[in-house]
Amino acid sequence: VAEYFQEETDNMWVVFNALSKGRDVINLGMGFPDFASPDFLLVALGRVARDPSSHSISPSRGHPSLIQAICQLYSPVLRHDIEENEVISNFGADGILYIALRALIKPGDEVILLEPAFESYASLIELCGAIPVFVPFTPPHNTTGPSSTDEWRLDPTRLESAVSSSTSLLLLNNPNNPLGKSMSKEEIKIVADLCKRHNLLLLSDEVYEWMTYEGRELVRVAAVEGMWKRTVSVFSAGKMFSVTGWKLGWAVGPADLISRMEEVLKETAYCGCTPLQLAVGEGVKRVAGFMGTSEGYLCELRRDLERKRDTLFTALVEIGLSPIKPSGTYFMMMRIPRLMAILATADTSTESYDFTFVKWMIREVGLAVIPVTPFCGKQNTVIGDTLVRLCFAKKDSTLAAAIVKLKLMK
Ligand code: PMP
Ligand code: GLN
Repeated sequence: VAEYFQEETDNMWVVFNALSKGRDVINLGMGFPDFASPDFLLVALGRVARDPSSHSISPSRGHPSLIQAICQLYSPVLRHDIEENEVISNFGADGILYIALRALIKPGDEVILLEPAFESYASLIELCGAIPVFVPFTPPHNTTGPSSTDEWRLDPTRLESAVSSSTSLLLLNNPNNPLGKSMSKEEIKIVADLCKRHNLLLLSDEVYEWMTYEGRELVRVAAVEGMWKRTVSVFSAGKMFSVTGWKLGWAVGPADLISRMEEVLKETAYCGCTPLQLAVGEGVKRVAGFMGTSEGYLCELRRDLERKRDTLFTALVEIGLSPIKPSGTYFMMMRIPRLMAILATADTSTESYDFTFVKWMIREVGLAVIPVTPFCGKQNTVIGDTLVRLCFAKKDSTLAAAIVKLKLMK
């Protein structure tokens, strides 16, 4: 195992994917659906691919047909009549986050993150010469037995005290990966009020926007009064249509911020992949037609994922483990049984419990999950240390096989 993870700089995804390959391992690690992507999107891509006019470079901000579809879908959702110059697309939400941070912050700035925060954020911020400042969600006191992400609360005092004269932006991820929390109206108001009071920009990564459960809709921070002019919201075709390898993302926000992002894009990738933009544009138009109804692809996806979430949660509880029921995303965190972690540490002394436990699970249980410390700041690995993340965007048969493996831990 050690040979895979020798350098502190090694990338977690590379390491754990490598560890899981070529063995009898069920993979609930990296977040990718193993079920089919929607047929209408694949048919659209086939049609687009055969049209010779689809294969040239598109305008930097994106092909007009994708941009128009995005305006149509998000205008009612963000409660703003979105103009074409208020949208930009790029390779993946990752590419969007990169150009946004490059455009919106400067070296020496501080950027607030709510912890746990998606693993790449801190390094992207550091790449821009800026400093990530983590504000942890406060976990519940009880650490055994089933619980829910609603019990992980945002502490306004802690948030306020993270602001300094160098703070320029807050990078929010809602619903949050890896926690699986979809924030309440009150919590979003706390974030919005803070940004308005201290004149901060807000970059809101909402790639899991359609994966919210028990009838909740995502609370869109850009739609809160006074927030449009300071918010860039980020989305992903990979998540929306279960095509994580397509790497097509887009952002919606005020024209001045979007045009600053366009300047960076022109100097880097120039534009995203045209045929994918055309196919996804058709997909986005299609789902826009179902908004406000309880039908269509996105509603079916949400219902399916909620059922999978419940299946996994119930199984974990029955086995005697301590899962944290998510209100959003397709991830579920689980507390590491303390005794297991101790047993699994026999051969290590320096690494954190979660890493040891995940390696032990891959080796002994045949199940890959993801440690949570990489989603935490260096000072605050205490929370992550005791947790792992499971992805439930899987075929029923994959989940059933994973549950058989989990029962070995009983
Ligand atoms: N943000 C979050 C929170 C994610 O989980 C992911 C998935 N890798 C991304 C951004 C990147 O999305 P994309 O694959 O569209 O680049
Ligand atoms: N977002 C996915 C996850 O959290 C994939 C990770 C990645 O793109 N590096 O598992």
